Amino acid sequence: MKATQGDPGSRYHTSEGAMNEFSFIDSIKPFQNLSCRVIKGIGDDAAVLELDAKRYQLLTTDMLVEGVHFLSNTPAKLVGHKALACNISDIAAMGGIPTFAVVSIGIPTGTGHIEFSHRVKGQENSMCPDYVSGTYKGIFACAKRFGVSIVGGDTVKADKLVINIALLGEVEKKNLVLRSGAKPGDHLFVSGPLGGTLKSGKHLNFTPRVKEARFLIEQFKPSAMMDISDGLAGDLGHILNASRVGAEIDEQRLPLNKGVSVDEALHGGEDFELLFSLSSPKSAKLVEYLRSHRCGHFVEIGRIIALPKKLYLCDGSGRRREIEPKGYTHF
Ligand SMILES: [Mg+2]
Repeated sequence: MKATQGDPGSRYHTSEGAMNEFSFIDSIKPFQNLSCRVIKGIGDDAAVLELDAKRYQLLTTDMLVEGVHFLSNTPAKLVGHKALACNISDIAAMGGIPTFAVVSIGIPTGTGHIEFSHRVKGQENSMCPDYVSGTYKGIFACAKRFGVSIVGGDTVKADKLVINIALLGEVEKKNLVLRSGAKPGDHLFVSGPLGGTLKSGKHLNFTPRVKEARFLIEQFKPSAMMDISDGLAGDLGHILNASRVGAEIDEQRLPLNKGVSVDEALHGGEDFELLFSLSSPKSAKLVEYLRSHRCGHFVEIGRIIALPKKLYLCDGSGRRREIEPKGYTHF
């Protein structure tokens, strides 16, 4: 359907005319009809809703599409794990604990046209039932591990395997962390090594950082936090936009996965590590904690500066160059 002027989505083209995920999201924002119970709508890792006097409800959703987010020969259990784990990662990024989920799945049952190693033999347009139940096994195993109850969903016929999960979570009001709280002078940290996850397969079997996020909010209360799903530079760009600040990243401090270049760590995707900022005193406290406990869970990578939306990469000799706050975009 062609969008007409004034319709949601009619302004999703960039100045170059190309469709962009984030310009599309911006274009539909003005059409939100928000109840007064909405604390934070579009624009963070999860929506934040009033729950009761002490807690907020969190709500997030993610969709995985065969051929886009996983390959036709990806083990089913890993596909299921990833489908739920990337939602859990978003709840963790708000400081929350995941609770209830619904799972909707589109299954090729005769209308598909793509080659798929898990199709039923002789009925190449159908998905092997074992593969579909395998994805559910992955979802249920991940749900059990993180205390999530699967409470419903939908099943439809589709050309490709599509899995969409919507997940609720909860966070104490005092513990909520948004992307918008970073201040000049804050220190930037990540929760683990970055880059190369598509090659290594880590993007399929990562552990959502719920435990680490809870530790951080209870002990140090970050000023801003999110999970890295589209690459460090791009996701840091979201914190910079939301907080109206800039940042400097120290190239030499970036924790890299084996065989990964700085560029891959900056602009890759699907690390599912936490990216957060801490005030100077809290940062010193965390660094001291890491030193005294010989713990390498969190790595300081740079600092927040006052120049809005500016992102710089600093080399060992103090020189800095501006880089694009861009990561993976879905279209
Ligand atoms: Mg996220």
